[in-house]
Amino acid sequence: MKDTKNYGFGTKAIHAGQEPDPTTGAIMTPIYQTSTYTQASPGNHKGYAYARGKNPTRSALEKCIAELEGAKYGLCFSSGMGATDAVVKLLRPGDEVITGDDLYGGTFRMFTKVFANFGIKFLFIDMKDVNNIKKHITDKTKMIWLETPTNPTMQIIDIEACAKLAKEHNIICAVDNTFASPYLQNPLALGADIVMHSVTKYLGGHSDVIMGALCMSNDELYNQLAFIHNSCGATPGPMDSFLVLRGIKTLHIRMERHCSNGRKVAEFLKGHPKIDKLYWPGFPDSEGYSIAKKQMKDFGGMISFSLKGNSQEEAFKIASSMKVFSLAESLGGVESLINHPASMTHASIPKEERDKAGVVQSLLRLSVGIEDIDDLIADLKQALS
Ligand SMILES: *Cc1c(COP(=O)(O)O)cnc(C)c1O
Repeated sequence: MKDTKNYGFGTKAIHAGQEPDPTTGAIMTPIYQTSTYTQASPGNHKGYAYARGKNPTRSALEKCIAELEGAKYGLCFSSGMGATDAVVKLLRPGDEVITGDDLYGGTFRMFTKVFANFGIKFLFIDMKDVNNIKKHITDKTKMIWLETPTNPTMQIIDIEACAKLAKEHNIICAVDNTFASPYLQNPLALGADIVMHSVTKYLGGHSDVIMGALCMSNDELYNQLAFIHNSCGATPGPMDSFLVLRGIKTLHIRMERHCSNGRKVAEFLKGHPKIDKLYWPGFPDSEGYSIAKKQMKDFGGMISFSLKGNSQEEAFKIASSMKVFSLAESLGGVESLINHPASMTHASIPKEERDKAGVVQSLLRLSVGIEDIDDLIADLKQALS
């Protein structure tokens, strides 16, 4: 296997985990569409016995994502939620998890509606101040789960400070790195133990695959998670693995454009007479700017804003009148999307909790794509007129 560890990010994105097929020289990793593998005699196989456990197309992708995160190990799952589910299964009844008050809606739903029934306790707190996290740690706390930038209000949580606190208390620190992608932020390098991705988003990048991933460097954590991965079985198929390997080859180029388009859209929205709050971490006066500058390479293409007067009707009208932006859930694809969190991605969170976190009825979230910026600005201009 080619050693790509010392190459730059773009070279890794294209080559890590991949080499020409030894039988034909095919430059792209083949789609090994098989459920099982023949054995010469019982137990005598080439490292592949059954495809839930291991598939060569998936192995190439796992290696590639791990290298992009600077991790020793990668595991791919059939969805981001499948990956998160595996992490929570490291815990036991009675254990406590400290997490943020502005989380991906599906994560909140899984924590409160599924795992709370198994006796695991989740505390949803403001994580922007590390001292606030510290105050909530008890001898039962086993995990800190954080997302940064958060969805949808782009709060920035200090990964290095959280990881340090977790280490002091012998707690696992897991980071949902979906919004940043490995191009913008590498939590393991900042001290975190586990990185989670909804690969569906920037890593896949083309809105054609649902997938998740975990990365880690600790041998024991890897062994536990690999055991859960195979035992519980939320593993992705080879065709999807191929599509993501292909998508990742342009991750660095796409992210550059997401970031530059994101900045121009944020600049256009800033000070627009219809807009009340604007959430994007890249202005020097944005909340969390200094931490974002420290831990991220750039500020990304995710932007949210609320409207003066907080009218849901007006927000719906804007969302429905966009022509280049499509009204849809999800994010991170090449095409620009607009989403109304309160009724779409975050509808499973009670209104009271949503309002507290700033997810008000007029809030709209943009996933700025990589189209021509002039067309994106013109579209926003007409929708906000
Ligand atoms: C989409 C998303 C998830 C869930 O991932 P799926 O691939 O949809 O299962 C988790 N966290 C964040 C931040 C997301 O945006």
